[in-house]
This record gives sequence, structure tokens and C-alpha cells, in this order.
Amino acid sequence: MIEIEGVTKIFGVGAEAFTALDDVSVTIDANEFFTLLGPSGCGKTTLLRVIAGFIDPTRGRVTLDGNNLLNQPPYARPVNTVFQSYALFPHMTVAQNIAFGLEMLGKPGSEVTSTVDEMLALVRMTEMADRKTSQISGGQQQRVALARALAPRPKVLLLDEPLSALDFKLRKDMQLELKRLQSETGITFIFVTHDQDEALTMSNRIAVMNEGRIRQIGGPRDIYDHPAERFVADFIGDTNFLDVELLKVEGEQAHIRLPSGSEVVARAAQGGGRTGGEVTVAIRPEHARMDEAEGALFQGALSNVVYVGTDTHYHIDLDSGGQFIVRQQNQPDQRHERQVGERVGVNFGAGIGQILKD
Ligand code: ATP
Repeated sequence: MIEIEGVTKIFGVGAEAFTALDDVSVTIDANEFFTLLGPSGCGKTTLLRVIAGFIDPTRGRVTLDGNNLLNQPPYARPVNTVFQSYALFPHMTVAQNIAFGLEMLGKPGSEVTSTVDEMLALVRMTEMADRKTSQISGGQQQRVALARALAPRPKVLLLDEPLSALDFKLRKDMQLELKRLQSETGITFIFVTHDQDEALTMSNRIAVMNEGRIRQIGGPRDIYDHPAERFVADFIGDTNFLDVELLKVEGEQAHIRLPSGSEVVARAAQGGGRTGGEVTVAIRPEHARMDEAEGALFQGALSNVVYVGTDTHYHIDLDSGGQFIVRQQNQPDQRHERQVGERVGVNFGAGIGQILKD
């Protein structure tokens, strides 16, 4: 278990000072696939480097199984890193690359050989053992980099955007592959990405970061279905934001009045922090339905219809102002095509809207 408590990192001094990490606290469990997700510059890599020991934090504590990590040099930490650029030795074979770290640690030859064989099998590269790493593909190099980092059996593997150099299809395959490697080895993975799909696909839990702070921590479903605040709702997936009137809050249920005058029940994130007044409610495009205009919660006119293969996105100019997007799955036998300009309604069920914190 890794405990990160109140970690702050300020680069530079005086007018030049820049706070890259601002009082970050999070506990990462043993055997967890944990992802740090956020836009470029939010501090993900800095946090990873603090854990690895390449950067000293300005303040805060980092412990692994109760032991202070910060007073140990990087090489002595039971932590290994996989970089975006793989950093393999091109003149060495696949097997030699995997063996290198073990040899540096002074492991006996027989143990090196058996671990290398095990790692080659784990990343499904046994047949490529004697190839030079300059003569294998990018995806294969990625597997070798993983095998090399896993070989000394670190307690924690840090992965800094390791899939960003791969093409789309290979990246999708490697996402599942990484998830398999994590669960087969039982090693804690801390994965850095700015790609929300990647984070949702692979993680047990995700910490969404912005401007040096963790904004929300939760499982993929929590984060997607119950974003606590606007940044999180906006960064992950598409969201409709509506300004509504909060009538009353009962536990997690919030009674709201829509601009159209209809009253519905939404969900209050951690109480939403508010008991009345104007609040913002977030509704995912696929959680709302497009219906006939009459009797719907919202009414408006279709301004755009975007076909994207699996789904169609309907953009609706609401009579009450603003725009709303509804996403509907396409059916192979679908006949009725909606036309731009058509009058339509939007409905969503009780508990679908999520009240955001300010
Ligand atoms: P990316 O996805 O682009 O790698 P990131 O979230 O990993 O972004 P970091 O690399 O952690 O971001 O950087 C966070 C902020 O700290 C950035 O604004 C960066 O410019 C700044 N920063 C990082 N390293 C240093 C440094 N050595 N000196 C000064 N500022 C730094």
C-alpha cells in the first residue's frame, strides 16, 4: 500500500515559483491498477517522479507498506518505471534487455535465465528472445520494456503514458494486455495518462487531476456516472450542463426545477454542498432520450444530426435557451431519420442528472 500525504512540489523560487503539486493526498492499495488522469501539465508525471525518487517533494510524505520512501535513493526503492520512450538497448537482444537489470542486481545466472524465460512467456515474446530490439515492432518493444521493468519483481510499477507511441488498434490491444499483466503479477500499477478511454478501460480506480490537485478519486463508473464537479464531468466524456433551481435535498436525492418549469429528481454528489438556489446539473448525452416534443421535460428544435457509426448525436436548440446533445445507439433496421429543424423533446429518468459542486 502506498500512502501519499500532503505532497506539494514547487519548482523554482520567488516570482519564478510554480506549484506543480498542491497538497496531494491519496492511498493506493496493494494489487491495484491505479490511474492518474488529467490534462497536460496537471502534475501527473511530477507525482510519478516523486514516487520513483527522481524528484524530491517540497513538502509531504510518501510511504510504501509503512516505510518512508523519500529517504531512499531511486535504485533502492522497490519501484520500477516504464517510460514512454521504452529506453531499450538496441544492440542487445530481447532476452539480454530483460536480463540486464537482474544482472546489475547481481542475481545468479540460473535465476536470471529462469526469470527471463518467465517474463518472455508473460509478455508473449518467447519466440522473439534472440532478436535485436532494433529489429522488432513498436508494440513488441513495448512488451520488452514491460518485461524488463517487471523482471526484478518491484512492488510498484510506474507507467508514464507507455502506450502513446502506438497506433490506435495496437493501443487498444495493449490496454487489455496491461490489465492482464497487472492481475497476473499482482504488482501495483500506477499509470499516467491524459486519455480518458484508456483510464476507464484499465483502472480499478482513477484520480482525476487538474492544476496540481486531485479533483476526484473513484472507480471508472463512479467517475463517469457521478462526476463531483464540472471539471471532472467535462474532462471525461461529453456532458450537458444545465443551470437549474434546487428545491430541496434529501440525502442523495435532489429535487430540481428545470428551466421549462418541470420538476424532477436528480442526484446530489456528496450532498452537492448546496440546499437551494441555482445549481448546475450534468447529464450524459446517452442518458437522455429524444422524444416527441409534446409533454417532454425539454422542448426544442434539432440543429444538427451527426452520424458516427455506432451512434447518432442529436444537437437540440432548447426553447429555454442553450443546447442539449442526445446520443442514441443506431439500430441496423432503423428507418425514421430525424431532420434538422424538426421539433423534438428531451426526457431523462429520475436520478439521472448529477448536481455538481461549485
Ligand atoms: P504531460 O501530460 O504534458 O506530461 P503532466 O501532467 O505530466 O503533463 P508534469 O510534467 O507533472 O505534467 O508538469 C506539471 C507542471 O510542472 C508543468 O506546468 C510543468 O511545466 C512544470 N514542471 C515540471 N517539471 C519542472 C521543472 N523541472 N521545473 C519547472 N517546472 C516544471
